[in-house]
Amino acid sequence: MKKAVVLLSGGLDSTTCMAIAKDEGYEIYPISFEYGQRHNRELECAKKVAKKFNVRAHKIIRLESLGGSALTDMNIDVPKYKGDNEIPITYVPARNILFLSYALGYAEVLGAEAIFIGVSAVDYSGYPDCRPEFIGAFQKVVDEGTAAGVKGKSIEIKSPLIHLTKGETIELGIGLRAPYELTTSCYNGEEKACGECDSCVLRLKGFEEAGIKDSIEYKKIL
Ligand code: ZN
Repeated sequence: MKKAVVLLSGGLDSTTCMAIAKDEGYEIYPISFEYGQRHNRELECAKKVAKKFNVRAHKIIRLESLGGSALTDMNIDVPKYKGDNEIPITYVPARNILFLSYALGYAEVLGAEAIFIGVSAVDYSGYPDCRPEFIGAFQKVVDEGTAAGVKGKSIEIKSPLIHLTKGETIELGIGLRAPYELTTSCYNGEEKACGECDSCVLRLKGFEEAGIKDSIEYKKIL
């Protein structure tokens, strides 16, 4: 059976990628990261999602936090949604480069054919490492920098959500029975989602667009 590594954060997009990879016939190997997040809730969600998909293994990599982001430094507050074109302080420096590099090493070890990453460049916070230009550039790194790549059996970086709106992602995921009730998106990580951070606002907008009710609880809905 063909194998794929799936970057699994415990959020909505990565959970959709799990469902897509499974639907495409891959044996899925999720990989998650503990990188000094301000809360552990997302990792707990990732574990529940992995369990729900009955995976053979769920790799969790522990990295030392570099700080420099509201998501990894408790002294920086998570801002409320602004919707401008600035890269917000929730950007985690080089996060997807680091995550994909680990996923790539793991994929080579497993003999996997693909890596799934749930980035989107439509309803997103303007993070540079979520854009098609980045994914294309990283694919070149894979092709030129791995044994699999130079032997002509490169590993494909798949980003099936990159051109989808949040609403389209949710419709796709619901169709594939992605377990959204187990996911979290809030940057604050309290028991109920805040409803006011970038991630909550984008998620809520997506469910509204899709005409589906979100099954997780919010403190406040703007
Ligand atoms: Zn929130």
